[in-house]
Amino acid sequence: MTLEQTLPLCIAGTWRLGGGARYATCYPATGEPVAWLNAANLDDVEAAVQGAHQAFLHSGWAQRKPHERAAVLYRIAGLIRERAEELAQLQRQDNGKPINETRALVASAAGTFQFFAAACETLEETITPSRGDFVSMSLYEPMGVVAAITPWNSPIASEAQKVAPALAAGNAVVIKPAEITPLLALQLARICDDAGLPKGLVSVLPGKGSLLGDALTRHPLVKRVSFTGGTGTGKHIAHIAADKMMPVSLELGGKSPTIVLEDADLDHAVAGVLYGIFSSSGEACIAGSRLFVARKLYEPFMARLTAAAAQLRLGDPADERTQMGPLISAAHRESVERYVALGLAAGGRLRLGGQRPSGGLFDQGYFYPPTILEGLGNQQQVCQEEIFGPVLVAMPFDSEAELVEQANDSLYALAAGIWSRDYKRAWALGRKLQAGTVWINTYKQFSISTPFGGWRDSGLGREKGRLGILQYMEQKSLYWGMNEQPLAWAGVEAGQ
Ligand code: NAD
Repeated sequence: MTLEQTLPLCIAGTWRLGGGARYATCYPATGEPVAWLNAANLDDVEAAVQGAHQAFLHSGWAQRKPHERAAVLYRIAGLIRERAEELAQLQRQDNGKPINETRALVASAAGTFQFFAAACETLEETITPSRGDFVSMSLYEPMGVVAAITPWNSPIASEAQKVAPALAAGNAVVIKPAEITPLLALQLARICDDAGLPKGLVSVLPGKGSLLGDALTRHPLVKRVSFTGGTGTGKHIAHIAADKMMPVSLELGGKSPTIVLEDADLDHAVAGVLYGIFSSSGEACIAGSRLFVARKLYEPFMARLTAAAAQLRLGDPADERTQMGPLISAAHRESVERYVALGLAAGGRLRLGGQRPSGGLFDQGYFYPPTILEGLGNQQQVCQEEIFGPVLVAMPFDSEAELVEQANDSLYALAAGIWSRDYKRAWALGRKLQAGTVWINTYKQFSISTPFGGWRDSGLGREKGRLGILQYMEQKSLYWGMNEQPLAWAGVEAGQ
């Protein structure tokens, strides 16, 4: 790939230029272009969906035995692993995450294909208990064309999470990656080609979501949308889906509470809280952005946390020691800064950060330091709205009842963290917190084998887990009549 080239897109089994405007994707650490491509246009959406539909009907993919589909998915996992370093470096440039993080995301994408290959070949259809003269079965069948719409913060991992189960289930997939981070989705389509996946089953349409994602969602041949992104966009998609009676899964935003009880192991809690909010520069749906600390512990804990946060290495994403890279764009950094200003205007105090760093790379890229605000209540805007940056709001709490009320007082309910040595208390508290995922004495750990999703404004449906594949299938019940005699109602006698 050279900078002079315009990257082709993968549309309906061919690699060709998109029909939309030419644009560059940029490295957030320097603002310099990484690659040029033409966005897809509405004709490309139509071509990709029609191509996917034809591939679904005629490539034989849906009819292959599960172990045969699994073999292709295992090959995709293998090729991701073979090309891991190249993919991780490309993702670092596409998105600005530190190299160690992009390596982990690439490894997770390979693991996802491997996991859903195994899920595919071991998925059981059931014979249900018979309640009549029949054998009754519950079966699962592919849906057809599935749209996978993904955000910019964890490319390849987000795409794998949707594409692997959708293909495993026998479907065709049209991927709409975020406009600003399309490169890994295109690489994934190359890998699918190289692994021998029938042409047309995967297409990739980079460009504006309000044009392409919207058209894809509305398309009559698209039978399911799996979306990860902002809550506003998710609600828009849900409205369209309601009109089409189309199932959707929506992985949306978060404002997750992390709770430090008086008896927490402080080393673990400090490390976990820092990782929860500042890894990925806070650009994570599950970022632990609201911190509740038992009042007795508040000052000593905050002193340790602040000192450790000040030591985090912000800088060049190519450097293996870097813990925090730049934010995704200049506009996003400005949005984070506006939130910090809002917090200060509401009476908050800065315990750490809050100022753009300067000098060297910091003057080129969109860097923002770990920032800790305090002196605010849970009702403040900075505690209620997703900032999606390295900004932690810390609050002391007195009673557990007050804590639970505040922790749950959010439109979002994606994740929560608890730090305590008392396992019974942590269990009881974990059951009271409203969230799709609760971590106890750990945070931001993910497993493809464990379902993931949010409550309320954090989303609908679950991804991951062995049964995640069923989201991409339609259930069908099948009855085999075993009667010796014709059904009684019509009064027809056998042999007459
Ligand atoms: P976004 O909603 O702006 O965009 C997500 C995707 O949707 C992009 O591909 C975009 O082009 C597309 N899109 C935009 N408008 C659309 C429309 N009208 N119709 C269809 N598609 C459209 O989100 P973003 O800024 O890319 O990502 C950040 C958000 O994603 C945050 O809110 C974050 O919390 C959320 N997120 C959630 C999870 C999760 O699993 N819950 C994971 C990662 C990110």
